[in-house]
Amino acid sequence: MPAQHISDPSTTSLDSGAWPPRTYQPRVDIAAQFSLDTRNAVLLHPRCAHVADPIASKVGGKPAWPTAEEWPTCKEHNRALIPVIQLTQNDVPELPFPVMSDLFQLLWCPEDHDEAGYGPLITTRWRNSSSLGPLLKNIPCPKEDYMTSSHVPKECAVYPERIIESNPMPDNTEQITMWINEHAKEDLDALGIPQDYREDAYCFFAEAPSTKVGGFPSWVQDPAEASCRCGEDMQLLLTVSSDDVGDGFSGYRWAPSDVRRDETGFRDCTSIQGTELCIGDCGRVYVFICAHCESRPVESVFQCS
Ligand SMILES: [Zn+2]
Ligand SMILES: [Zn+2]
Repeated sequence: MPAQHISDPSTTSLDSGAWPPRTYQPRVDIAAQFSLDTRNAVLLHPRCAHVADPIASKVGGKPAWPTAEEWPTCKEHNRALIPVIQLTQNDVPELPFPVMSDLFQLLWCPEDHDEAGYGPLITTRWRNSSSLGPLLKNIPCPKEDYMTSSHVPKECAVYPERIIESNPMPDNTEQITMWINEHAKEDLDALGIPQDYREDAYCFFAEAPSTKVGGFPSWVQDPAEASCRCGEDMQLLLTVSSDDVGDGFSGYRWAPSDVRRDETGFRDCTSIQGTELCIGDCGRVYVFICAHCESRPVESVFQCS
């Protein structure tokens, strides 16, 4: 999706407790300054909550599943798949909904799979919420059944925030970083970024590491690619990330407004309740989609930290 300048009001005051969760909006526009490639991303900010409406956007919990359709299982592990994310077109119109569909679902088998890089095995559904028929009341996936229970998200509501990300790996990163240190000191100071980290300052202005739709992949390891059987490159559909606080590095920029910080700017991970996902420690699952094929095939890349 080409970037457009639509963005939710972000915050310039960290640790403000501002609700819904919002990330810091830098004062400088580095993408414009250096004509960088940009993409729209929607940060989902999942926060622990029971979402009773079966057709609402949520992480985990009970998605809208027609009783007429068998709940999917993983043949390798002989286990029911678990619901990971459900998003409505109303909340996240940026998703590439096929015609006549307005509900997206991501499920996975949380165990390790060779073919998925030793990560969860994913499946997706695109549905029309007005033609689901009777819905399944009980989702057959108790958490205790899974060996890799850290790959089973807690039920959360989502609080989408629209941001514009810029290319994480431009050729002139060094030049940009020098410019940031000269012209964006106010932002670096506001974020509490330690001097040691400022030699990699561009990282704080590029892509978000959190659970999000679209944007650029924020790789934990080396960049990877996904290509479709049709021969076309796939595009990043969404990222499922272990947390919404960022690590010791990225957290300075990306921990949203409801995350408490101490006097050194370091984040208290326990100040928010999220999915409690721990995907290969602080890893991520990147879901790619082929928009060229009518069946919307998906592939996942799993990277652990
Ligand atoms: Zn499995
Ligand atoms: Zn394809």
